[in-house]
Amino acid sequence: MASRVRDPALADRGALQIEWAEMHMPVVAKFIRERFTREKPLQGVRIGAVLHVTKETAALVRTLAAGGAEVRLAASNPLSTQDDVAAALAREEGIEVCAWRGMNEEEYFSCIRWVTEWRPNIVIDDGGDLHAMLHREYPEIAASVWGGTEETTTGVIRLRAMEKDGVLKYPAIAVNDARTKMMFDNRYGTGQSTIDGILRATNILFAGKVVVVAGYGWVGRGIALRARGMGARVIVTEVDPIRALEAVMDGFDVMPMIEAARRGDVFITATGDKKVIRREHFEVMKDGAILANAGHFNVEIWVPDLEEMAVAKRQVRPYVTEYRLTDGRRIYLLAEGRLVNLVAAEGHPSEVMDMSFANQALSAEYLVKNRGKLEPRVYVVPREIDEEVARLKLKAMGISIDTLTEEQKEYLSSWQL
Ligand code: NAD
Ligand code: SAH
Repeated sequence: MASRVRDPALADRGALQIEWAEMHMPVVAKFIRERFTREKPLQGVRIGAVLHVTKETAALVRTLAAGGAEVRLAASNPLSTQDDVAAALAREEGIEVCAWRGMNEEEYFSCIRWVTEWRPNIVIDDGGDLHAMLHREYPEIAASVWGGTEETTTGVIRLRAMEKDGVLKYPAIAVNDARTKMMFDNRYGTGQSTIDGILRATNILFAGKVVVVAGYGWVGRGIALRARGMGARVIVTEVDPIRALEAVMDGFDVMPMIEAARRGDVFITATGDKKVIRREHFEVMKDGAILANAGHFNVEIWVPDLEEMAVAKRQVRPYVTEYRLTDGRRIYLLAEGRLVNLVAAEGHPSEVMDMSFANQALSAEYLVKNRGKLEPRVYVVPREIDEEVARLKLKAMGISIDTLTEEQKEYLSSWQL
């Protein structure tokens, strides 16, 4: 099968979007691409990727291809594909794409299967569906994979669970856990793009609203910070006492969801957990409450409960579904409970994906260079790569920093004054 996209005629429009992203992604699209073009470290390597098919992913994939790789790309979410970008990528040399916005679950998994059955050497995943399919259904192909990477927190959790059960078949790099990924993409990227998604879908005024953020990890922190910056009164819910304490000391109200449910105007989940907002919470929410998920798949807001409780349901704006309950209250679910930032907006801005995807490109190169030398375990991104990404990003921003003198280096590594 060649590429499957919504409409190849959208390719010119997509190419403009990619150009725009690359303009803001100097680390991936300039520094790393120039070196990859010269050195061809991925020559002939088959890279199977399951990522959100966005203009930023296009920049990554084009850099991998510039390094000599052949790439097959499938969507990591049925609703996040930018169809024009998919069309533009599909016409490029060495790149095939299986992705369109609004695919059903069966189509979604058929595209991941298409990547899997191609017998990729390196796999790049976002959320773990590709890793899971390889291990569950194609153990023999999984055993032939040289190595994999994982883009997001939830996917890393799944990989670590496989490692713990002794079933992981290839070395996997937790790109999510790189400092230059998690602290920037998860926090500032999701912080901005989640608000962006909610605003594009609803056009509500944030100032004065009570915004409830579930989860105070890197993602929740970013969202809470940006919501407060827009003038919202922010409540945080948590299950981890240390993170709850951090939220309190950052100046947020912290309480159980059952209490927050009565007070909130807007609810945003960012936990990676399931059923975080469910029937008992819907039962006490205000008329007009708005629900959005920025965490994981479509399980954080438990939509089956809403479906059961509703006496009527209608689409009131793009990506806004109204559920009318028996007592007349209306609850608004954004983006069908899937990632609001990637469905109702364009995902993270390019500048921050530049760092995440620089880690991906350099980790793929590392796996190829170290083929056969790594155990089937979950690895952190090597420190040199993490620091190199920060260095290149600062360079691109025209910012220089101090360096330690020899005397300072010695002072900082000794116990005698
Ligand atoms: P994290 O593990 O740092 O934070 C999650 C937090 O949620 C933890 O502090 C945990 O204690 C808390 N939590 C778990 N269950 C809870 C519950 N029932 N109620 C309240 N709090 C609960 O993870 P993270 O890096 O912040 O990522 C969170 C999720 O967002 C993951 O699923 C990740 O894959 C996803 N993610 C999405 C985007 C995006 O673009 N939308 C970007 C990055 C990560
Ligand atoms: N695939 C799962 C898991 C969460 S996706 C799901 O769809 O529910 C979260 C990841 O999306 C983040 O780790 C982030 O790096 C990535 N992401 C955010 N904005 C993006 C963009 N503009 N292009 C590509 N990936 C993006």
